[in-house]
Amino acid sequence: MGKQRVLILGSTGSIGCSSLEVLAGLRDDFEVVGLAGGSRWRELASQAVTWKPSAVAIDCEAGGGHLSREMGDSVRVFRGSGALVEMIEGVDFDCVIVGVVGAAALPATLRAVELGKRVAIANKESLVVAGALLSEKAKASGAQIVPVDSEHSAVFQAMHAGRAEDVRRVVLTASGGPFRTWSADRIAQATLEDALQHPTWDMGPKITIDSATMMNKALEIVEARWLFGLGYDQIDVIIHPESIVHSLVEFADGSMVAQLGSPDMRTPIQYALTYPARLACPSPRLELADLGRMTFYRPDAERFGALRIGREVARVGGTSGAVMNAANESAVALFQNGGLGFREISTTVEEVLNRHDTRQNPDFSELMSADAWARNEVLRCNSCF
Ligand code: NAD
Ligand code: MG
Repeated sequence: MGKQRVLILGSTGSIGCSSLEVLAGLRDDFEVVGLAGGSRWRELASQAVTWKPSAVAIDCEAGGGHLSREMGDSVRVFRGSGALVEMIEGVDFDCVIVGVVGAAALPATLRAVELGKRVAIANKESLVVAGALLSEKAKASGAQIVPVDSEHSAVFQAMHAGRAEDVRRVVLTASGGPFRTWSADRIAQATLEDALQHPTWDMGPKITIDSATMMNKALEIVEARWLFGLGYDQIDVIIHPESIVHSLVEFADGSMVAQLGSPDMRTPIQYALTYPARLACPSPRLELADLGRMTFYRPDAERFGALRIGREVARVGGTSGAVMNAANESAVALFQNGGLGFREISTTVEEVLNRHDTRQNPDFSELMSADAWARNEVLRCNSCF
């Protein structure tokens, strides 16, 4: 068999760079045929010089112009708002790593699923917005959606220990973020700098802020709901500050099966590429005796209201995931610009959800309308919250 041809969407980000580190060790079996990013064209150009893909895509007209001039005829350049979808349609590939942040990844992800490819998905927002639609399309096309998010990769791996019908529940672990031990009053005063200090994982800014509000775990509850076809009441969250147990599956007989490893995204990224094979990986090995002990706590829903939101959206389904995600993306952007306090991120998302009339079984355009409505609602009502 020839080499597996891989596209990386979001190659300049945290997941994208870790993916390239993994692929550097897999050159005998995989080749990078496309790279894509949002804006930083110089970084994309430099990655393209190293990896020599046949195509590069950038969601920015001006950056695309610079990139074309820089790369000359050596690579096809797709640019502008449809660039990622055009690359998915225009380049032959076997597997795509989706490491773009936000719902912006959805159109290209959906297209890759429709084409029946392996989709190694780090981008949880697409699954929160359109998990039901993506699962349905994957069933029809034969696409394999393999999770990269560490908790979901752990659940995916643990699920192989039993039959789907014998799963009682899954338990998603959460580090608790930088404010795990802070009082509610102190959390309310948290600054952007405080929120960007994650205790165990080194990640892009949006997911780092989501981890601080615990909206990340709320999004992950919804992500798990759709990835594994679980009921909302089959998904629990437990705080595990060491981030070693990446999640667990409890079966009918009470046995819990977990996946453990050092907190390093290169392990789940590589597994999504090589599954079902397991190959040597650059992540540091785990020495349990060096660790000595691991701790687990119940999450505090009082201080972290986001968890309640995630559970409710997993229960309600329909357009509520699109609204939750879009309101959160908008609120996080406002917080980053100093236009919203830290505590208001979660309360804004909850308020926008309360104002939304959920539609069930939405199609793609209804999901996009719900997304646009929620973003607008955050801006419109920012002053009244
Ligand atoms: P990041 O901010 O480091 O990188 C984001 C990437 O997306 C960049 O390459 C950027 O150019 C690209 N991008 C942004 N907007 C775009 C657009 N409109 N079109 C095309 N590309 C665009 O983010 P990250 O931390 O790597 O996270 C990426 C995704 O993976 C997120 O959905 C996140 O929740 C998920 N995830 C990340 C981690 C992690 O360790 N970083 C872990 C689990 C899940
Ligand atoms: Mg995660």
